[in-house]
This record gives sequence, structure tokens and C-alpha cells, in this order.
Amino acid sequence: MNRRIKEKYLKIFIPLLLGVVFLLLIWLGYRLFFVKEKTFLEKIDKSVYASLTYEAIYGIHLNLKGTFDPPDNLEDIKLVLSNGKEDVNLPLELKEKDGYLEFVTSNFNNKGLNLETIPQGTYYLVFKGTINENNKEIIKYYSIENKSEYGNLDYYTLTKNQKNNKINIEWNTYEECPTLRFKIEETPLPENVYDITIDPGHGGSDIGATGKLNNIEYHESDLNLKVSLKLKEILEQQGYKIAITRTDDSYVNIYEPHGSATLANETKSKFNFAIHHNSFAYETDYLKGLEIYVANDIEFDFANILIKNIINDANTQISPKEIYQVAPGIYQRFFSEQDILEDEVQPSNKDTSMIYYYNIRELGGISTKSTNDGRYANLENGLIANPFNKSNNTTEPYLLELGYVNNESDLKNIVGNEEKYATGIANALKEYLEMP
Ligand SMILES: [Zn+2]
Repeated sequence: MNRRIKEKYLKIFIPLLLGVVFLLLIWLGYRLFFVKEKTFLEKIDKSVYASLTYEAIYGIHLNLKGTFDPPDNLEDIKLVLSNGKEDVNLPLELKEKDGYLEFVTSNFNNKGLNLETIPQGTYYLVFKGTINENNKEIIKYYSIENKSEYGNLDYYTLTKNQKNNKINIEWNTYEECPTLRFKIEETPLPENVYDITIDPGHGGSDIGATGKLNNIEYHESDLNLKVSLKLKEILEQQGYKIAITRTDDSYVNIYEPHGSATLANETKSKFNFAIHHNSFAYETDYLKGLEIYVANDIEFDFANILIKNIINDANTQISPKEIYQVAPGIYQRFFSEQDILEDEVQPSNKDTSMIYYYNIRELGGISTKSTNDGRYANLENGLIANPFNKSNNTTEPYLLELGYVNNESDLKNIVGNEEKYATGIANALKEYLEMP
């Protein structure tokens, strides 16, 4: 071949070869990322037997409720996140009702699927059934349709080694079959997303409870702030991104932006710690020690761990108070009939299954039965609606009453020891998150 022709061939041949390689790579990428997903979607039985009626994220947990009308020859059923190869099992409780099944991942808001534990990847929420067909066991996947008033959800995992996953939960359809896709991928935490919110109670003109020690008067608002700032410092050292409702002696609003009822949900925080100190109407040696106020419909695992660690690290004890007590040191104060009768707004939308304290009830949205839908707005108190009143993606709130400032031995233990209380709370969080 003559040299000029050879060069001419190379000029055409090399770009052509590069083009073919490029197309091959695109095709491979497509196979890897899309076809695998499509193959699993093709496996899903297109006759839909399950409906979702409720979905909510509360703290680090996702909870689902719905109904399942099983095919006749079903032998076993599991609720899983699956891509056809790996399954993440969801807890599942089934109850038979009029020939179909009611399902719930957990009756506790803070149980269900722990979102911190799902490995990165793309999954679909499906029922995985074992069917007996001619004495042969076969696996079938059944999809789920959305009959709830809620849609897609986003969740950012707690910061771990300076990294976060974003979990995108999205409704879609595939060949007219509804699908619920979970996509988990590493994402930098957006500027307005935080791990945990701390709310030092009171502040400004609202000094909270007061106590005296060696003729010095102590204000609850100051003590709350000292513990909160220490707690923020310790948790930040552990790598968490911490939001706080105040860093000085200023008044914090409730339902306005960055308020004590809104900041945790604005920042998609997984937990909210309202830090308080207690007092009793008259000086007493009887009432002292730690009280943790919790939300409705929860397991007390975390509350118990908080008590154990705070008592240990701050060298204190649980309160002997019996009213509202549901377990040693743990309190659930619901509205009483009397509270509801005295409600300023008639007709009241409160009932006795709802928590009395706004800094628990209003923070968990639908999970904690937030009542402030704005009906209080016209009152002289100027309260505006809770913007997260109907939210199904909220923080898990705790109200910590660390001790009685009008009990001398409690106050002695508190003043100057803010770091010990903060350490107890931080250690509890660590222990809870390491629970299997
Ligand atoms: Zn207080």
C-alpha cells in the first residue's frame, strides 16, 4: 500500500474505532445501570395486591401501614426492599381483617425500618411471597400502590466519618404497575440540613424556674443554655452537624422560622433535645432528679439509654415523681379531659391520646399528632400555625428535665457540672445509634 493511502485509511479508521469503543462503553453503562433495574421490575407480578395507606419518617425510622389482599396459594410473605439480588427486610406485623391482611412495619413510631442501615443502591419496596404451584415453591414479587395522602420522601442519614447518604423514596410506575423506589447514594449534606437540633428552654425575659444556692439566684434559662452549648460542642467534636435555637440569652419564638417547634424540622434533624430544668411549687427535699418526657406511641429504648447515661455521667438519680410516669424516669403527659375542657379554642381538636407539651407534640407532625393547624392564630397570644402540622417527615423529640433547681442537692449537682450532663446525653446518643 502506498504511504499516502495508508495515512488516509488511518485517518478514517482511528476515529471510527474510537467511535465504536465509545458506543460500546455507553451500551455497557446502560446495561449495568438500567437493564439490571429493568430486569427486576419485569419480575414483579403486575397484579397489585397491596395498598399503602400511611407512610411516615420519624427520627431515623420509616413506618408504613396498609393492606394486602393475598393470592390464594401464598405460603409465606415478607416485606422487603429488593433489587432482585439483595433484600433488606422490613419488620412486618400482619393482622387478618375481613379476608384481607392489614400490615404495619411497627406500631411504634420510633421502630420500623431504620433508615441509617440501608446499604447504598437502588431497591424497590415489594412483598416477597412464596407460592406453592404444583407442589413447587416459587418466589413472587408483588408491588404496592399508594393510597395514602402522602408522596415522595427524602432523608439524609446522620453524618458518619464526614459522609452522608441521601435516601430518595419515590413513587413511579413501570408498565402501568405502581412502584416505590428507594435510591440510596452518598451525597454531601445540603447547607440547610443538620443532624440534630438542641433547644435550650426559655431565654430572654422568660427565665424559667429559679433556685438559690449560697445566696446566688440561678435561672433555668441560663442553666439550660450552658448544658446545651456544651452538648453542641461535644456532638460537633463527634462530627455531627448541630442546629441550636439560641446561643445567648435571647427569647426564642415557637412557630416562626427557627423557632423551638420549627428549627428541628426545617433542618431535617433526626433528633430534637429540648433541654430544661424543673421546679416544684414549694421547696421540697422530696422532688429531685431526672425526668425525661417522651412522645406518644414510642418504644422507650432511647429514653432508657438517656436515663442510664445521664445518671451515670452526671452522678444524679431519677425523679421519684409518680404522676405521668410510664417507666422509671420516663414520663408521658397526655392532655387530660380537664385540659381539653379548658382549651381556649372551641371546638378543641385535642384529645387524650395527645401529648400536653408543645415541644414534643408539635415536633413530630402526624406521628405525634400535632394540633396547631392555625386555629389558634386569631387569639391574642398571636400563635401562628405550625408549618409542620401535617408533616410525615419529622424529628424525634425528647424533653429533658435534668433536675430540680429549687432542690438544694440537685442544684449543687447541676451548677458547674453542665459538661457532665451534656456528656451523658452525648454518650446515650452514641449507645443508642450503635444498638443492633
Ligand atoms: Zn423549663
